[in-house]
Amino acid sequence: MADLLSVDDALTRILTHFKRLPAESVPLAEAYLRVLAEDVIAEHDVPHFANSSMDGYALRAADVTAATKESPTHLRVTMDIPAGKAPEGTLQPGEAARIMTGAAVPDGADAVVPIEDTDATWAAGDAIALPGDVGVQKAVQAGDNVRQPGENFHAGDTVLYAGSRIRAAALGTLAGLGMAKVKVLRRPRVAIVSTGDELVAVDQPLEPGKIHDSNSYTLAALVTEIGAEPVRIPTARDELDDVRKRFREALDAKPDVILSSAGVSVGAADLVRTVLDELGKIDLWRINIRPGKPLAFGKLGKVPFFGLPGNPVSAMVTFDVFVRPALLKLLDIPDAIPTIQAVAGEDIASDGRQSYIRVTLRRENGRPTAYATGTQSSGALLSMVLADGLLIIPAGVEVARKGETFAVRVLRVLMV
Ligand code: AMP
Ligand code: MG
Repeated sequence: MADLLSVDDALTRILTHFKRLPAESVPLAEAYLRVLAEDVIAEHDVPHFANSSMDGYALRAADVTAATKESPTHLRVTMDIPAGKAPEGTLQPGEAARIMTGAAVPDGADAVVPIEDTDATWAAGDAIALPGDVGVQKAVQAGDNVRQPGENFHAGDTVLYAGSRIRAAALGTLAGLGMAKVKVLRRPRVAIVSTGDELVAVDQPLEPGKIHDSNSYTLAALVTEIGAEPVRIPTARDELDDVRKRFREALDAKPDVILSSAGVSVGAADLVRTVLDELGKIDLWRINIRPGKPLAFGKLGKVPFFGLPGNPVSAMVTFDVFVRPALLKLLDIPDAIPTIQAVAGEDIASDGRQSYIRVTLRRENGRPTAYATGTQSSGALLSMVLADGLLIIPAGVEVARKGETFAVRVLRVLMV
């Protein structure tokens, strides 16, 4: 296998061709799952005013130190502060303000006593007459039931970091800061071309010898899953002119990356290679990987190009191992594919290449245990549907023995 490039060396070479994409500004509602382009520093405290965490009465804790159920302390109710209303004036000793959850605590008050600890009987929304009276039945400490300014974070704090994915809570945090627009990295555009005379579109009948093109769907889904934008180009027939035409169409889509599938195995290779030599530059690599040995990498025009193998499982595995890290580098996210350690539940044969075995994972004796998902034919896509992960048998190992521990790349990752 000396003439085969190792998986790690191939990936290292590939990654030198990728760098972080430029930023763009998008409306907040479109920022979900995008990648932040710059750190977000809070311009104000959140919350930015002291507010009540209860429906009840704002007061001075010092006024109610002796309050008990048997012997309530009576205060004069001089203000009514619903949520969203700024308190008018300062609370004086002996006074209380009816206050709702989230409403601003007035100056002069330092605590809130919940309605349950008073003799009041109103429900939220009921009007009350002012001035009024309330019997407080329990002492409170200064600060009780008051959310202080900056409880969540303070002005000047770095709250979100460049290179992080904007998930639900981060999106809400940006909204809380009033950021109507957010600077995010541009989404990578990825053009996808299937090649092969045997391929027909999913809405066309199968003639003898034909199969439906599945790779362009699988690859488009994998691209979408990491937050990039797929552009499916119509299938190229196995003719120079048609491959040329479709590769030009791919370039016209102004992509950041172009993926083709099939046409890179021995025999078929000339077609893709010939066109790439004309329109760009290609290296055809024999990588020490199973499935997916023939992988072409190069440039179509100035655009990085991956010629993935045609077999559906090989196309997916080589995407996972080589394309995904490259796209994540465009998004400034290190290759964070979760890998766990799992015990082989049975002997699994390899051929000495670095093998990615489709496995299901079960917990046995407290440890994740891996079993192959039936046939490992690189044409059998259902084995990927069933797989929880890809167990990696390192190069040079012929059998993964039952009971030994291996790294498993976890599939079914929603998004990294
Ligand atoms: P090739 O690399 O062209 O020799 O193709 C290898 C295998 O992958 C053949 O069995 C092809 O029929 C199959 N194949 C190629 N392209 C696709 C595709 N887009 N969808 C499904 N199977 C494909
Ligand atoms: Mg072919």
